[in-house]
Amino acid sequence: MDLTVLGSGTVAPTSERTAPAYWVSAPPVQLLLDCGAGTLHRAVTYQIPWAEVTHLAITHFHPDHWGELVMFMFALRWGTEPSRSAPLTVIGPRGLQARMAHLASAYGDWVLDPEFPLEIVEIGPGEQRELADAVVLEACKTPHTEESLAYGIRAGSTRLVYTGDTGPSEELARWAVGCSLLLAECSLPDELGIELHLTPTQAGALARAAGARHLVLTHFYPVFGDIDPAAVAAREFDGEIVAARDGDRFSVGA
Ligand SMILES: [Zn+2]
Ligand SMILES: [Zn+2]
Repeated sequence: MDLTVLGSGTVAPTSERTAPAYWVSAPPVQLLLDCGAGTLHRAVTYQIPWAEVTHLAITHFHPDHWGELVMFMFALRWGTEPSRSAPLTVIGPRGLQARMAHLASAYGDWVLDPEFPLEIVEIGPGEQRELADAVVLEACKTPHTEESLAYGIRAGSTRLVYTGDTGPSEELARWAVGCSLLLAECSLPDELGIELHLTPTQAGALARAAGARHLVLTHFYPVFGDIDPAAVAAREFDGEIVAARDGDRFSVGA
């Protein structure tokens, strides 16, 4: 399983980081996790086969996490040559179906009927969905918005956990136990921490509690300045830690 960071930023724009988007390749699954502003252009820049996407999973309905979904689908419908015929599954929290219907009212019926098979799947905390033979997506509640989820992607003995947006949560730590790679949001420096996001210290503590093998920090607000979040998280977690940059690629080992 491979992970490529397309956007390691947030809603706050910077020249270095676009909004949240992560490409997970676990053949035959090509999964896009979140789809914030900049996703398509970053995917092209990093030579991701974006048009071969099989699944698109949204963690929650903040626009920085799914604001480019319609644009992505528009590109799949009219921006590929030859036209797409492969099916697409869009997965998200409860309320996704209704929101997609609203998007269709705003943008056109093609949102729900893009002329390739489209399946819209709602998933709740504690549920899982088989994406392909032996590749499973799992969901866990996170303390961020009413609907927000973390996702786990399991292929054989390899498991990638992406926190989406979250505050500190013991439930999340228990659920993430044994993950090969923890992709954890790390929005704010310790001194600016709030309940609905993680700081480097909290992300490090989460990785330690989960017994993660490898911690990748992401979702940085620009206020970090010169602070190295990986160095701060290392006080809590003694495994390998990387502060993600757009374009980083990771091999998610067993
Ligand atoms: Zn966010
Ligand atoms: Zn959010």
